[in-house]
Amino acid sequence: MLRGAGAFQFVANSQWRRERLLILCYHGISLEDEHLWRPGLYMTAELLASRLETLRAMGCSVLPLGEALARLRSGDLPPRSVAITFDDGTYDFYKQAYPLLKKRGFPATVYQTTYYTDHEIPIFNLTCSYLLWKRRGEQLDSPKDLGLSGPMDLRSELGRHKVVRGLIERSERENLTGLQKNELARRLAEILEIDYSAIAAKRILQLMNAREVAEVAHDGIDVQLHSHRHRTPEEEVLFREEIRENRDRIRSLTGTEATHFCYPSGVYRHEFLEWLNKENVVSATTCDAGLVNRHTNPLLLPRFVDTSGRTQLEFEGWLCGVGSLLAVRRAAPQQYIVPED
Ligand SMILES: [Zn+2]
Repeated sequence: MLRGAGAFQFVANSQWRRERLLILCYHGISLEDEHLWRPGLYMTAELLASRLETLRAMGCSVLPLGEALARLRSGDLPPRSVAITFDDGTYDFYKQAYPLLKKRGFPATVYQTTYYTDHEIPIFNLTCSYLLWKRRGEQLDSPKDLGLSGPMDLRSELGRHKVVRGLIERSERENLTGLQKNELARRLAEILEIDYSAIAAKRILQLMNAREVAEVAHDGIDVQLHSHRHRTPEEEVLFREEIRENRDRIRSLTGTEATHFCYPSGVYRHEFLEWLNKENVVSATTCDAGLVNRHTNPLLLPRFVDTSGRTQLEFEGWLCGVGSLLAVRRAAPQQYIVPED
């Protein structure tokens, strides 16, 4: 109704919108059917392409994040400013999103966790969940060597979640390494009669490897901080170690000094801001919904988390600014990529 009445156009062209920056947040772009498994985390390449076309059609100014924040401070933003960010640095970014961005000449920031860039293996907890989802509707016995307490009831999300929890708890109890967890996931796939090697070969639920990160960075993608292990410990020393290790790895891969951060899983605490300051981090993004203005705390920058569940109207509403005025604030997706060692 508002779009029909010209409100979208009016707000999009307003001085109010001109003084604001919209930071878009994306996670995974499906290689196969991941968006059917986690629509809050994955979308198809077709949907992403259509979003990028909408940015162009609405005359949005897509800026690199650092430039956008500098121009916000100096009051020099172009009309309908947008910055595009991708969390985690998945292989599907490299394979699906990056060519679409490149084709249109759109800059983007990738918040890269770096633990898995050295290990070309699927992310454990997500892979277990994905494998179980592929056998949804079934009830299976769990062989002893899986270390679960009872049979696997895969008929509901809750039932599948319990199995994933059981596997994570076991890996923590036995202090399994990344490679050992990979073998556990492989064993689960075997029990479920799913070809694990095929999933691994397609690089589903994997992060970019060192060569791919270096390649996209060399080609202009802005690679920034997301913690080394996708963790934000509540102890200062450990928290700062996560930032440093992440920054060191990014430097060795890209030759650049990362100073922008994204809170893993959107989780932040008051103390984190001081610790980020001490580590010379100049901006940090959350998964809270909103536009950024010059009074926004640079270490608490809101974003619009775009997912398969967002309608075209909703997306357009956020680009022009009406979305935030109407406070169309849905909770950000609760399930994030959580790579851990
Ligand atoms: Zn993340």
